[in-house]
Amino acid sequence: MSTTRSDWEQLYQSLTLEGRAFIDGQYVPAASGATFECLSPVDGRFLANVASTDEADANAAVSAARRAFESGVWSGLAPAQRKRTLIRFADLILANQEELALLETLDMGKPISDALAIDVPAAANAIRWSAEAIDKIYDEVAPTPHDQLGLITREPVGVVAAIVPWNFPLIMASWKFAPALAAGNSFILKPSEKSPLTAIRIAQLALQAGIPKGVFNVLPGYGHTVGKALALHMDVDTLAFTGSTAIAKQLLIYAGQSNMKRVWMEAGGKSANVVFADAPDLQAAAQAAAGAIAFNQGEVCTAGSRLLVERSIRDTFIPLVVEALKAWKPGHALDPATNVGAIVDARQLENVLRYIQIGKDQGAHLLAGGNRTLQDTGGLYLEPAIFDGVDNAMTIAAEEIFGPVLSVITFDSTEQALHIANDSIFGLAAGVWTRDLSKAHTFARGLRAGSVWVNQYDGGDMTAPFGGFKQSGNGRDKSLHAFDKYTELKATWIKL
Ligand code: NAD
Repeated sequence: MSTTRSDWEQLYQSLTLEGRAFIDGQYVPAASGATFECLSPVDGRFLANVASTDEADANAAVSAARRAFESGVWSGLAPAQRKRTLIRFADLILANQEELALLETLDMGKPISDALAIDVPAAANAIRWSAEAIDKIYDEVAPTPHDQLGLITREPVGVVAAIVPWNFPLIMASWKFAPALAAGNSFILKPSEKSPLTAIRIAQLALQAGIPKGVFNVLPGYGHTVGKALALHMDVDTLAFTGSTAIAKQLLIYAGQSNMKRVWMEAGGKSANVVFADAPDLQAAAQAAAGAIAFNQGEVCTAGSRLLVERSIRDTFIPLVVEALKAWKPGHALDPATNVGAIVDARQLENVLRYIQIGKDQGAHLLAGGNRTLQDTGGLYLEPAIFDGVDNAMTIAAEEIFGPVLSVITFDSTEQALHIANDSIFGLAAGVWTRDLSKAHTFARGLRAGSVWVNQYDGGDMTAPFGGFKQSGNGRDKSLHAFDKYTELKATWIKL
């Protein structure tokens, strides 16, 4: 059990990192031979040369996936058989949890304690939950006239490609491949170029669990090369995406330009966390508000990046939030005591610092944080920042920063709070804090967001769907609703 930073370093020394693609049951270099360097934001260390796949590799992976699908080697199994294999896959992920957590942290900078306690178990749980569900979902018989039998059945769509981001590499991928594989599809995973290592590693565990070759493939590489090739491919049936709204829009164009593949997207957010004067516990609300922007370095699609505070409590509440944020302190990501790790790469850090400057330039008041820190580690660390005096029209309130930058906006009435909360192109999530049950329900109903949390922030598990309204996306990950993305409905009419 690794409990200290030096334990983690020791584990790292014992590993040989795999950087190749995984196509048709084996690790292979990119057809072109191209690679890119994977550097750690934790301390700048070189991790691996990773295959930079492109259209040729996409073609090979899609062919392998199609062959496997048509052969029935996976798609033709009884759901209970797929269940057993997927549960073995989940168990293997847990059996290798320290290695996977270490790869996740070194690759994208999150605290090792989070990677170990949250990311790896959540990915295993997504697989187990979807596997356990798949042999309990029944098809339907339509209420037809007596001389007809109408069967409504679900079939796997075929070849599913998923393009995922770097903020929760394993979790975002598992929310897609778990239901897709459980439903009998073949799958191609395109991890972010900023965090490919765990996706590459689990391909081998999938094979070891008994998932047949060609059913689970991994193509590391850039969005504009292999991502685009998958999105334009004529033989990919479904594209499942998590990432920015800008790229989501581009993928819709690619689908229209190619085979009209189904495109499901979990995109960006700018979530409002609304604190009324009658919140049951202001201290708890302040702590949650701090966690909602500092957890995972603020690199969270549902980050509560707009904190709406009722004017009558602002003078007591805002200092509580500033105080609560002090508990979120950047530290070396391999130190088990760290709760704020490194920003994923230099480009993202520059981007977040640029937004902090824009906030200042537009007249918002920086109360705390916002400075780069721990440069001596060679890593990319940033103090969580909190701005007061923010107007919802300011750039820092309108655009997704995807870093630890909190905007505090004051409101005077329930109607105004709802208007501000919904005044965004996004609609991913929202929080509301009040002890008034009726107000909580009415406000939750009025919010245009896929997830609403009352007197808490960021709750959820595999039992409830997750996804966005408006430009935060379509379709839902998690829960039984996720199977809608990876199955086609067929109506079969039999004349009796
Ligand atoms: P991104 O959109 O830049 O990249 C996401 C993925 O798309 C990467 O794998 C990238 O290589 C690929 N890509 C980029 N250009 C492409 C192209 N032209 N064709 C095909 N693929 C392409 O996003 P990111 O920076 O990796 O992640 C941050 C974003 O993800 C934020 O907007 C965040 O809100 C969002 N996100 C959303 C959810 C959700 O569930 N709604 C969850 C996590 C992250």
